[in-house]
Amino acid sequence: MKSYTVIICPNCQCVQMVVNDPKKTACNRCQDQLKYRELKHFFESTDEEEARRVRGKIEAKERGELERFNELDESGVFKSADEVNDNIENKFLEQKGLQEIKSGKTENNSRSRKQIVIDGINNSSPPTKSNIIDYAMKHGISKESANDLLVKIKNRGEVTSQNGEYREL
Ligand SMILES: [Zn+2]
Repeated sequence: MKSYTVIICPNCQCVQMVVNDPKKTACNRCQDQLKYRELKHFFESTDEEEARRVRGKIEAKERGELERFNELDESGVFKSADEVNDNIENKFLEQKGLQEIKSGKTENNSRSRKQIVIDGINNSSPPTKSNIIDYAMKHGISKESANDLLVKIKNRGEVTSQNGEYREL
């Protein structure tokens, strides 16, 4: 299976996607030889589409289009959920040292999405999937994103479901 890694060229800041695990790769824009293993890997996935979405997201962010970035996020176009958000956020800041870009809004949005779903579990009775998703939708999360988040936190073992009802662990 192929893997896709999103990197940023340290020379020209071009955001790009690398397939598999090459020793070296050349930057698409400046042709700089990049030592793949020494680069920060902003995102890794075996899903090409997902990697492309994340690449687009980092590009938008890098260009300072935070408004566009947030819009996309809220409309659920990027289904990469909060762990990817946090991942991008932290690595992006680490590499680029752009503390100013870490606006409270972006961070709060990415963190609270998961929390909203968990609150949905705790505040719904009975805490069925459709009630939890209704709750999340009332708090600004799209149906699709809420569903994805619920699946994700369940897969991570943070919640369980039994007889169609969810419970935080
Ligand atoms: Zn470059």
